[in-house]
Amino acid sequence: MTSNRRTFAIISHPDAGKTTLTEKLLLQGGAIHLAGEVKARGDQRRARSDWMKIEQQRGISVTSSVMTFEREGVTFNLLDTPGHEDFSEDTYRTLTAVDSAIMVIDAAKGIEPQTRKLFEVCRLRSVPIITFVNKVDREGRPVFELLDEIADMLALDVSPQMYPVGMGGEFQGILDFASGEVVVPEGPSREFKGKRVADFDLPEEIAENVELAQIGYPEFDLEAYRNGDLTPVYFGSALKNFGVTELIEAIARIAPPPRAQPAGDKQIAPDHGEVSGFIFKVQANMDPNHRDRIAFMRQVSGTFKRGMKLIPSGLGKPIAIHSPILFFAQDREIADTAEAGDIIGIPNHGTLRVGDTLSEKNQLRFTGLPNFAPEILRRVQLKDPTKTKQLRKALDDLSEEGVIQVFYPEIGAQHIVGVVGQLQLDVLISRLSAEYKVEAALEASPFATARWLKGDAKLLDEFESFNRANLARDRDGDLVFMAKSPWDVNYQVEKNPELSFSATKER
Ligand code: GDP
Repeated sequence: MTSNRRTFAIISHPDAGKTTLTEKLLLQGGAIHLAGEVKARGDQRRARSDWMKIEQQRGISVTSSVMTFEREGVTFNLLDTPGHEDFSEDTYRTLTAVDSAIMVIDAAKGIEPQTRKLFEVCRLRSVPIITFVNKVDREGRPVFELLDEIADMLALDVSPQMYPVGMGGEFQGILDFASGEVVVPEGPSREFKGKRVADFDLPEEIAENVELAQIGYPEFDLEAYRNGDLTPVYFGSALKNFGVTELIEAIARIAPPPRAQPAGDKQIAPDHGEVSGFIFKVQANMDPNHRDRIAFMRQVSGTFKRGMKLIPSGLGKPIAIHSPILFFAQDREIADTAEAGDIIGIPNHGTLRVGDTLSEKNQLRFTGLPNFAPEILRRVQLKDPTKTKQLRKALDDLSEEGVIQVFYPEIGAQHIVGVVGQLQLDVLISRLSAEYKVEAALEASPFATARWLKGDAKLLDEFESFNRANLARDRDGDLVFMAKSPWDVNYQVEKNPELSFSATKER
């Protein structure tokens, strides 16, 4: 069975045009309607109001976490990766739940730091990537310079599928290699399709470049793309809704359907025979008086039916899923069924954790949802010393949710929190205060990063006895080396070749 699901995310640096492109993709799928256009059928209307009740009662806003839309028989699940300057593990983990990604690049800027970071995460799991060079309606960098930069900086084969006929003021359209036609802008900016011109008279210089682009770079190879070794490159303008149709058609045509997911040494394919999935994100209530949460499950196999009982690996006993939520951009409907590749929102009271496997038989565990080495480490300073217990509970909770990582040093009573982005620290302080009534401040810590330690028990003991001042336990009690600098890490790695110092930890 080939699935018609395409579950993907957009990776980009802020301002490259992710939001604009998302909106245009949803428009193409008919998921966004103009006001007054929505005439839901009776059932749909009821489903929708059910959902809105949940959203109101629980005060959980899941807006744009997952956007599902359909186009020409294909169901697209677009997972949002938060677009802040700083990002959290949430962003990283979302990428473990997709089968492919669109990398949006600003034609004037090329590969920017955040694009690169997110790309590295995709590479960890060999997530295939389609590149969309955006903003060709403005003056951009030369095409070959952009292509070479992608190839060099990301160590990836690039295979251009299009060539912009001029950029900025000179922009005339985009030549589509597959058809040989030039897509030219037509009509108002909200038009879905540009006009295709078969016998476009290319300026000589462009014609030469087009030839170069086709012979100078690898041809598209489906297998290489799906292995994450080659990226096809498309050009367009999200703002002018240009090249977006070609992009979405490419996703439908070449992006992989739901992939098998690793569970130890097994690979669980969509036809595995039972319903299974894993939690990649937990979103807590915005209203501090409620402890409700929505856990986001990426379904890996089987056909889920509403009311079904699944066993969370962290709990061991089944829970009935009565109010699962599917995320249509317009109507967040209560789902009746879902397939592999779909995302289901499961309301719960904190029983479901990031990294949990859900399955019917409780015989498999999905692996590979990593914790990443924090890049910012801070000491938590409690303003009211009688609140130690509440603080510990709060830090454990929030680290379960993936908001922060927490480290309990072997020496000293102060807790250390680690994050990958500054923003998480603000979220931490405000949630400690609002939800746990714990007033705390953050102060500098002597540590710069952390590494999870693994190895022979005797060697670990030995290492521990010499380095106690630089060791901590994470919330699962696993041993972590707290490093004062990258140099510190290298030094210990060289000194202790039998131990593994890992920058990620897989649950
Ligand atoms: P995000 O931060 O990646 O989500 O970027 P946005 O979608 O918010 O876009 C950032 C800015 O770039 C906004 O002012 C957009 O209007 C603009 N923008 C997005 N796409 C295009 C495009 O194709 N051409 C031009 N000229 N501007 C664009």
